[in-house]
Amino acid sequence: MSNLYQVFRDRFDLSHPLLIDAEGETIATYRDLEQRSAQFAMALTQLGLKPGDRVAVQTEKSIAALYLYCGCLRAGLIYLPLNTAYGAHELNHFLQDATPSLLMVDPARADDHAARSILTLTMDRLGEGSLTKLAEECPTSHSIEPRAPDDIAVIVYTSGTTGLPKGAMISHDNLISNAQTLTSAWDWTQTDVMLHTLPIFHVHGLFVGLHLPLLSGCAIIFQPSFDAAAVRTALAHATVFMGVPTYYTRLLSQGIHQKDCEGMRLFISGSAPLLAQTFQEWEDATGTVILERYGMSETGMNTANPLDGARKPGTVGPPLPGVECLVVNDASEALPAGETGNLWVRGPNVFQGYWQNVEKTAESFTSDGYFKTGDLAVVDDDGYISIVGRSKDLIITGGLNVYPKEIELVLDAIDGVMESAVIGLPHPDFGESVCAVIVSLPEVDLTAELIYDQIKPLLANFKTPKKIFFIQNLPRNTMGKVQKNQLREQFSDAAHNP
Ligand code: AMP
Repeated sequence: MSNLYQVFRDRFDLSHPLLIDAEGETIATYRDLEQRSAQFAMALTQLGLKPGDRVAVQTEKSIAALYLYCGCLRAGLIYLPLNTAYGAHELNHFLQDATPSLLMVDPARADDHAARSILTLTMDRLGEGSLTKLAEECPTSHSIEPRAPDDIAVIVYTSGTTGLPKGAMISHDNLISNAQTLTSAWDWTQTDVMLHTLPIFHVHGLFVGLHLPLLSGCAIIFQPSFDAAAVRTALAHATVFMGVPTYYTRLLSQGIHQKDCEGMRLFISGSAPLLAQTFQEWEDATGTVILERYGMSETGMNTANPLDGARKPGTVGPPLPGVECLVVNDASEALPAGETGNLWVRGPNVFQGYWQNVEKTAESFTSDGYFKTGDLAVVDDDGYISIVGRSKDLIITGGLNVYPKEIELVLDAIDGVMESAVIGLPHPDFGESVCAVIVSLPEVDLTAELIYDQIKPLLANFKTPKKIFFIQNLPRNTMGKVQKNQLREQFSDAAHNP
């Protein structure tokens, strides 16, 4: 029997600081976590919720939201985090699909949901609201509901490869095994201090960003969102920072330097590709080397560059202990090092399937238990994996495969190019044509001609973009992922106009 909260509880020391502020002062201890999460577990139980019921949570990041998460775990409820950016209408799909017994929203949004037949309670950005009030009246001790290893702890909605978002069912054991693997791979101890600025509606901030500190019983500096200036101040009291690549580029543009990072032992990046250029600029500016890792909602973390040993830019490192990664061609045959193909993953971290979607679940797994990630990858001779992109972003032009990343690397190396995204747009002859969207550095007057002069000698004709578009910023979601579907929509009409 394994409840994730029980595993934390067995390890943490009640008197140790759980949350500290940017000056290092204690805001809450692990005793507060133990007592406040018990109160939330009790309040939820008194409302009639039973183990296995879903609790949909769309609240701002707050300390109370962390206690609520742990309260759900200990009551055996299934936690369903929702992006705070979704409007009431966008929530329809999740609520109809997951049929939660309780919806948690910001008080300002409660009226938007008044017509729903689902119990709706509130919590605001300060952690106050109707559920918090109920919890405050409850006793500060509560049992921890025993859970079978594959009982579901969290459902995370993800678009995966195609279609409407699907609910990835993540079990207590999936979360326990991944947290234990990473704690040991990254040498977490109680003396660490995690600087947490990620949102907690996504696996990066919720699982990696919280489970590792909770499992090692260390302190967390819990900032409501990423703010480069606030991060630079707080680094003085932190030892580990996790971020999406955009956080690192923003810190660099704010002039971060070695002195800011003196007490830091580890900077971790993930959720989107970290450019080799950012990796290098970060090392030059701070004297520290970012550790890039790769994971996804359905699997947690799969691979990571090593703590000791070479961290190779542009790679996500070898598979983590206990995780198997396989690169295969479209005929499901394993490919040798150096060849790009579909990435499959197997291990105790891999989820239990999609909520009430037997068909999609069956399609996503091989008969021997590998999950088809939908990512394209290549392994080098040392076993380090590089993610080449999502398979849905692969461009097939005149029957030939073009991997956007290869072209993006060539474009990014051009003087004056800040970043680029290569997409396939419909083409009457070729099916798709390769097109590039470029963000140039401020005050640089780049033209398509200047770019063509430099790339033509480097790229075969079929890989050379047929059109080059310039744009101010690439559209990104909150996790820093470039939204190529938006670019495809934006430029599809322009693609073949002269
Ligand atoms: P999500 O389920 O939102 O966490 O998104 C998972 C996807 O993000 C993966 O399937 C990858 O396409 C991408 N991803 C995560 N980490 C990395 C990384 N370090 N480099 C490149 N892509 C990444």
